[in-house]
Amino acid sequence: MARYTEANCRLCRREGQKLFLKGERCYGGKCALEKRNYAPGQHGQARKKTSDYGLQLREKQKAKRFYGMQEKQFRNLFAKAAKRAGKTGDNLLILLETRLDNCVYRLGFASSRKEARQLVVHGHFTVNGKKVQAPAMELKAGDVIAVKEKSTNSPKFKEIKEMSITVPAWMTVDVDKLEGKVVAMPTREEIDTPVAEHLIVELYSK
Ligand code: SF4
Repeated sequence: MARYTEANCRLCRREGQKLFLKGERCYGGKCALEKRNYAPGQHGQARKKTSDYGLQLREKQKAKRFYGMQEKQFRNLFAKAAKRAGKTGDNLLILLETRLDNCVYRLGFASSRKEARQLVVHGHFTVNGKKVQAPAMELKAGDVIAVKEKSTNSPKFKEIKEMSITVPAWMTVDVDKLEGKVVAMPTREEIDTPVAEHLIVELYSK
């Protein structure tokens, strides 16, 4: 299935929530949701009743869009989460958080998940010393993500070295070395993505 290429801001307006898809722009007054906080299209401002199914569907779409995934990938990840011990919803969010592209974003090496995905695909990172180009790679506790030596002199990464970066409790970052580590697998409480995962579980359990 083709990747969605229309304006990212329409996706936020559709979900009625900031999905932080455009880096810096999302934090300033130019954010489209700040200016037009209603769904796009002719009937975007109409009041709508939402069924249980509608709520579940919207929550799934929101999570999928937050992490920039396609339907099939998302569904496969859900199936993986369901096979693991513990709560499926928690497992799903943990799997989403520990994708390589999301970890690069959480480490502050990219301004959005979309940019993180591009940087990974273009081969700017290593995991445990090995070059990687798969944004969906699942990381585990102890994995070290680093900017490839050749890329460290690019203006993009030189700029990052000047920044002060805060990472989630389950990661550490060494900005001088342009390196980060997954020190432990995240718990549900440590994941701040505003998603009601139980609605996604309900949707896929029908
Ligand atoms: Fe969403 Fe960012 Fe666009 Fe705002 S600027 S609507 S948060 S993608």
